[in-house]
Amino acid sequence: SGATRLLSVQGLGAGYGDIAVLNDISFDIDVGDLVALIGSNGAGKSTLLRTLSGVIKPSVGKVQFNGEELCGVAPEHIVAAGLIHVPEGRRLFAGLSVVDNLLVGAYLRRDGKAAIRRSIDEVYSLFPRLAERRHQDAATLSGGEQQMCAIGRGLMANPRLLLIDELSLGLAPRVVDELIAAMHRINARGTTLLVVEQDVEVALSLARHGLVLDQGSIRLSGESSSLRQHPLIHAAYLGEV
Ligand code: ATP
Repeated sequence: SGATRLLSVQGLGAGYGDIAVLNDISFDIDVGDLVALIGSNGAGKSTLLRTLSGVIKPSVGKVQFNGEELCGVAPEHIVAAGLIHVPEGRRLFAGLSVVDNLLVGAYLRRDGKAAIRRSIDEVYSLFPRLAERRHQDAATLSGGEQQMCAIGRGLMANPRLLLIDELSLGLAPRVVDELIAAMHRINARGTTLLVVEQDVEVALSLARHGLVLDQGSIRLSGESSSLRQHPLIHAAYLGEV
């Protein structure tokens, strides 16, 4: 199809100490794709994102990103390569304003103040509510605004691939719709996205492709439209038998 591969994961295994969580994970993501990572509680979704971003060292396997091997590489180097992780729980810096949180995301950039200024304006055009609240302490934002700020901080690193954990968790439907629209705009501007989304309806309406993680292994993968029809998805995640 002429698509360019951005991420290629082969035979990846990882866990915590002696406890294996991920087993033999293999999948690819092409430049420009928007992929949802689906799976129930404890399936290993966050562990997979942490392994890709270098927070957890894999026990086995390969991760090729933009032509570079990332296994065993330090997290700062992975950030510099353009693989950026927006963690579960948003992890904003309390006591810092919205704009200062955004600036933290740009800490490794070497392209100058004007370029960073333009990126801040892009984040504000994506999330106008952040512009209105730019001087507010990030800890006092609503849940939806915190998620916007965390995604904005990720965008400030100029990602090639943005990993977002638990996009919609705990947020009102109206806010979820705003975030889905923002995902599409971010993707249309050229950023590849891998989004962990526990709500399967949201995941399949958000993404072109889906990966289903089950007990640390990829159980299913494919286009969202075909996953929507799959009996396993119906039985396990959409509450229909
Ligand atoms: P959830 O949505 O509930 O966070 P998840 O699919 O993201 O689910 P993970 O958070 O990756 O799942 O957890 C996968 C497994 O790894 C679980 O059994 C969990 O208890 C275990 N685990 C997660 N973090 C740690 C840790 N820091 N130390 C030890 N075990 C952990």
